[in-house]
Amino acid sequence: MTFSRFLRVASSVSKRLTTRYGRRNPTFVSEAKYSVASAVKGVNADFRVGDEVSGFAVKEIQDVPELHLTAIRLQHVATGADYMHIAREDSNNVFCVGLRTTPMDSTGVPHILEHTVLCGSNSYPCRDPFFKMLNRSLSTFMNAMTGSDYTIYPFSTQHPKDFYNLMSVYLDAVFKPNLSELDFFQEGWRLEHEDVNDQSSPIVFKGVVFNEMKGVFADSQRLFMQKLQNGLLPSHTYGVVSGGDPLSIPSLTWQQLKDFHAYHYHPSNARFYTYGDLPLAEHLRFINDKYLQEFSKINPGTEVPDEPTWSEPRSDHIVCGLDPMGASDAQSSIAVSYKLASITDPFETFVLQILGELLMGGPNAPFYKSLLEQQLGSSFSPSAGFDSHTRNTTFTMGLQGVRCEDTEKIREIIEETYDKVIEEGFPKERIEAVLHSIELAIKHQTSSFGLGLVMSLTPLWNLDGDPVEALKINKNLEKFKECIQQNPKFLQEKVKQYFKNNSHKYTLTMAPQEGYEKELQEKEIELLKSKIESLTEEDHKRIWEIGNTLTKKQEEEEDISCLPTLKVSDINRNIIPTPVTNISLSGGVPVQICHQPTNGITYFSAVLNTHNIPDHLHSLVPLLCGVLTRMGAGDLDFRQLDQEIELSTGGLHAATHLVKHPIDVAQYEQGILLSSHCLDNNLTRMLDLWTLILNHIRLNDLQRFGTLVKMIATDQVNSLVYSGHRYAMTAASSSTSYVAALSEQWSGLTNIRQMREFSELEDPGEVLEKLQELAQLLLNREQMRVSVNMSPDNHDGAVKTFENFLDNLAGDPSPESSLINFTESYTPHTLRTHHVFPFPVNFASKSYVGVPYAHSDSGALRVLSRLMFRFLHREIREKGGAYGGGAAYSPGGKFSFYSYRDPNSTQTLSTFDAAVEWVLSGGFCERDVEEAKLGVFQAVDAPVAPAAKGKRLFLSHVSEDLFADHRRQILDTTPQDLVRVARNYLRDASIEGACLIGPENEKIEQDPFWQTARN
Ligand SMILES: [Zn+2]
Repeated sequence: MTFSRFLRVASSVSKRLTTRYGRRNPTFVSEAKYSVASAVKGVNADFRVGDEVSGFAVKEIQDVPELHLTAIRLQHVATGADYMHIAREDSNNVFCVGLRTTPMDSTGVPHILEHTVLCGSNSYPCRDPFFKMLNRSLSTFMNAMTGSDYTIYPFSTQHPKDFYNLMSVYLDAVFKPNLSELDFFQEGWRLEHEDVNDQSSPIVFKGVVFNEMKGVFADSQRLFMQKLQNGLLPSHTYGVVSGGDPLSIPSLTWQQLKDFHAYHYHPSNARFYTYGDLPLAEHLRFINDKYLQEFSKINPGTEVPDEPTWSEPRSDHIVCGLDPMGASDAQSSIAVSYKLASITDPFETFVLQILGELLMGGPNAPFYKSLLEQQLGSSFSPSAGFDSHTRNTTFTMGLQGVRCEDTEKIREIIEETYDKVIEEGFPKERIEAVLHSIELAIKHQTSSFGLGLVMSLTPLWNLDGDPVEALKINKNLEKFKECIQQNPKFLQEKVKQYFKNNSHKYTLTMAPQEGYEKELQEKEIELLKSKIESLTEEDHKRIWEIGNTLTKKQEEEEDISCLPTLKVSDINRNIIPTPVTNISLSGGVPVQICHQPTNGITYFSAVLNTHNIPDHLHSLVPLLCGVLTRMGAGDLDFRQLDQEIELSTGGLHAATHLVKHPIDVAQYEQGILLSSHCLDNNLTRMLDLWTLILNHIRLNDLQRFGTLVKMIATDQVNSLVYSGHRYAMTAASSSTSYVAALSEQWSGLTNIRQMREFSELEDPGEVLEKLQELAQLLLNREQMRVSVNMSPDNHDGAVKTFENFLDNLAGDPSPESSLINFTESYTPHTLRTHHVFPFPVNFASKSYVGVPYAHSDSGALRVLSRLMFRFLHREIREKGGAYGGGAAYSPGGKFSFYSYRDPNSTQTLSTFDAAVEWVLSGGFCERDVEEAKLGVFQAVDAPVAPAAKGKRLFLSHVSEDLFADHRRQILDTTPQDLVRVARNYLRDASIEGACLIGPENEKIEQDPFWQTARN
């Protein structure tokens, strides 16, 4: 387990795991009850080590004061099931059941199993009950994830009734799934006629996971990560692809799937986790009485052995597709990986985590200097860094976006860099900075703490490490400090041990190859051919029948009344408003103050309005945000500035900011958003750094600028494969309003293209000059407003510090409202664009103009988007084979349809229209509306961490009264309202936008209503 991963878990999860519902990450939001008082009272009194409670033996009880929690370890006596409860004053309760899943082939069996167990079970014998629960609960998180050696089923909710509803569905799915053959065909793979209604159409491969994994490996960096792990740890389960290799998936049989379930999804191979303020005794009774008591102990045989250490380093080379968005001559990758200490040694893991941060984190790190800054590659390889997800932890150093001829040189530099570190060690301030970041990470509260905890602890716990020991961060911290005090060369010796004298080293290079996709396709066709050739008459008949049965089943309306549910009436009609105070400082800068139990941290943010920026500088706003805090300022060069930032803050951030007025359709706000947080006693230092940046940013280091531009461009291109639907939605709406057009320019494909152009410039000096001009105009207090979240006892001192800070900024505060009257002459119009990318899948979107937040139809549109999700999911995912699809309405913004990793294109665009007709023809019932409302409330009432309280008002100008009205609008929406808004805003819309991101498409090409954009 690694402390700072508490905060990073969302991003690492998305890269390393295959998940059930795409990127529904636990970063959201509601009225959770937060308290920093010590751990839950009463737990110690109720339980004693040695007690037996509902079949569970209490093994260990430990307070962890630094995290305000009590950890209780138990074991189920009859089955040996492991159980950990974390008692903490937090109403966002979490449940998770984890299984050690250790495949020995690349058929994707654990991943397909993860999908299939969620397709119906003993007590809930309807299709996809797990998915349907998304609409019957107020969960703050629901998902299932497959890692290299585990599968976990976590959820969180703030409602006790909901908790038990969800827990019973989860337990039933995991321990009593139907695992029907049809579900295996649907979720895994099958042979089927391309057109199920036409027996003469060719037979092809279909299946949700089959398509999902094709999409995953279309990303060459993802392919690289996979091969790197396979190559470094080849002897056991890490040597195979747990998510499934598309060419291996079709060798999995239904029987193999069921066998895998019998051993891996057994209580003797399970770990149960509960977290929060609900009583443990009830959890235990429920789990034992309803499930565990029916099982006895087995030996699942799922241990993962240590990887045998090599006597010689190894290396390999692989090929990938050409990336049309990358620089054409620099698309190779290289990485050097090492096998390190066992994950079950918490202190060693702790030290290695720190070492990883010191080696590559930020511009003062040796590898940053020796590799990134030399512009040998566009950025670090996504695998780079310390990784503690496997039996033996690993460290990887490498680059992507490399010229083929540079790989040997990079390999040498990596070696030299380790030598240099062994020789020179790390500067004291850097070690201090890393320790400071740990202290800050412990104090910073997120709304998904319990979930982050189980995700960080699972890799260790899953391999029989001690998760409670890993929670004792302060103990490890003290021990670490002692070590470096007693032995000043402590870290250098570690580097020597793990990198210099370590023969278990694996070097992987990857280069693009012309015709790679075609070759892959041919392999699939060959496999398909061999499968078809062996088919008997009988098999053909069966394929036709199964195709028809699946289609029919997908269309059937089924009774899901067996599933538990919350009711809309369980939702409180009123809210507890978050009080904020508004003051004016330094001659007129508006400052919003929100008092919260922030655990000794002060949170700062500021919006700087960009409305007065001249047109020719407008498109550079996102770039300024990208480099603002990374170029150096005043006397500090970028390295020194970064050092200071690390020593006293949790990072200084800048992002674009764009919102419509909640009431007046003609007004909006555009700007940049600055944000940062620090320990209370570092406030002056943090604001001094902002002052330095705003007054004296150093926009003159061309080389530094070039490095940053390349890094930003690479990150964006990489995000396209993961977030294609977001880019499609932004592009689809871009013609429908001025704000949408600006959003496309700032955060859409347009911005990606611009950044790529900049990154290929021989001399970016001209761009830098324009940025200077922009900075001069923007970085002052003229159009600034500020928000602060802090503990009330810190108020007086902090206000003085902020006043001081604002006094020192240039310009005079403008008395104008921060919402600027809309004056641009912009004519909304219909625009449909196909952006051609050589992906094997599409991202499709259609977009319509919505209404302001406070408009009386705002709530109904939001419910409508959720209602349609049901229809779209069936058509686009279940029938169409896409990874996902749905509709989204951002209150005050646009109404969008989207599909994600979609094998279809025009068919999906028609499905969007069909969804509207489905609503207009009354294809839904009252129950559907009820479910849609519950679904909407998951987002509306999601827990909000102290740092984020009051932000709705500050960022979106939505007052608590407006929010309360909006909630009531949603609660009161009638079926008639839904039909009406679907007709008025969608079917009868005078303009619409559409976008398709994906491969060449003849049909679209010939359509006169579509434009094609190529790179
Ligand atoms: Zn999946």
